[in-house]
Amino acid sequence: MSKMIYLDNNATTKVDNEVLNAMLPYFQNEYANPSNVYSFSKKIKEDIAKARLSIARLINANSNEIIFTSCASESNNTAIMSAVRNNPNKHHLITTCVEHSSILETMKYLESIGYDVTYLSVDSKGRINLEELRNSIRPDTLLISIMFANNEIGNIFPIKDIGNIAKQYGILFHVDAVQIIGKARIDVKAMNIDTLSLSGHKIYAPKGVGVLYVKNDTPYTSLIFGGHQEQSRRAGTENVAYIAGLGKAADIIMNDNYRVNIKISSLRDYMEKKILDTIPNVTIYGDLYNRVPNTSSISFSGVQGKDLLFALDNHNICVSTGSACSAGFLKNSHVLEMMHADLTHSSPIRISLGKYNTKEEIDYFTNILIPIIKKLRIDSNISIRSNRNTVKFVLIKIVLYLV
Ligand code: PLP
Repeated sequence: MSKMIYLDNNATTKVDNEVLNAMLPYFQNEYANPSNVYSFSKKIKEDIAKARLSIARLINANSNEIIFTSCASESNNTAIMSAVRNNPNKHHLITTCVEHSSILETMKYLESIGYDVTYLSVDSKGRINLEELRNSIRPDTLLISIMFANNEIGNIFPIKDIGNIAKQYGILFHVDAVQIIGKARIDVKAMNIDTLSLSGHKIYAPKGVGVLYVKNDTPYTSLIFGGHQEQSRRAGTENVAYIAGLGKAADIIMNDNYRVNIKISSLRDYMEKKILDTIPNVTIYGDLYNRVPNTSSISFSGVQGKDLLFALDNHNICVSTGSACSAGFLKNSHVLEMMHADLTHSSPIRISLGKYNTKEEIDYFTNILIPIIKKLRIDSNISIRSNRNTVKFVLIKIVLYLV
């Protein structure tokens, strides 16, 4: 089988070698529990502080505003539930209909216990409308929670403008920044962000480590009670190796990012152009002028994304149909549904590039795509025709039965 080509970097990324090397000492040499008082622990505590500073620099926060968590899902849950618990007299939250499930499911839970949630709509390009946001604000709105960049189509939302609106109305503002980190500059101060989530495994650090930024003086209640780690804001012995890895991943982004993003966006544009030049009837979804540099949500008329995903998988090429399928089954993307995309005869695949992708890989992928799309289109025509024949046959039988 040919070499694997991984084009699903919004789902997860390969751990960078430098990140791995930064993690290794903590498994067997520097393994002390940072909460102890002997010198063996002191060095570990300092290393965690260093990683905290690296993350803080990445988003222009103060070090003491950074809480390490197990993942961005935990960070999102914590931020929302903390806002709710600290605003007992308010019962309304605002989010968008295209958030990640770690936001949407938390909102659904809150609705089930009596809270009101407004889900801002998106237009056919996946954009939100700030007037709709303003009009949704109520005296009892306790939180606005909006993602910075969408994981499926890559759209970047106007976070600075939303931060200004939240500030104007005195409402807490939470940002799921998982898909923007490393792809654009974030400044939590300038953007009036109160809480923000990020995840290690989208930025070449391992799965199982995340961050919650909480602006100083924001009322806060921990989701996990127990020990006094993370200034009593997140109990549980620190995942030192992973925290060190995440700190290193942040340093790499700070040193190298401009060049990496230029490379990735030119590769994405090259890929899209090649596809558009060689395959007819292609649609690219999202706000093409305001996307993260690595993401392309693309459909081929007559072709279902899941059929294309499996056909590409036979050639050892990994793409996705949008939302990851944690339970092992593929659903239509809720993001595309909310954009009212017509998914009856075709649905998109998501291609998300990363810093390890090369032009050779993109050439291989785009070349292999041409015959695959041709074959899937022939197959889908046959099945549409045979569906029509089946319907005709059933109708004739009914008519014959009735006479
Ligand atoms: N938010 C967004 C936008 C995501 O894309 C993801 C993961 O895909 C998450 C949150 C959850 O991150 P984690 O896997 O660290 O829980």
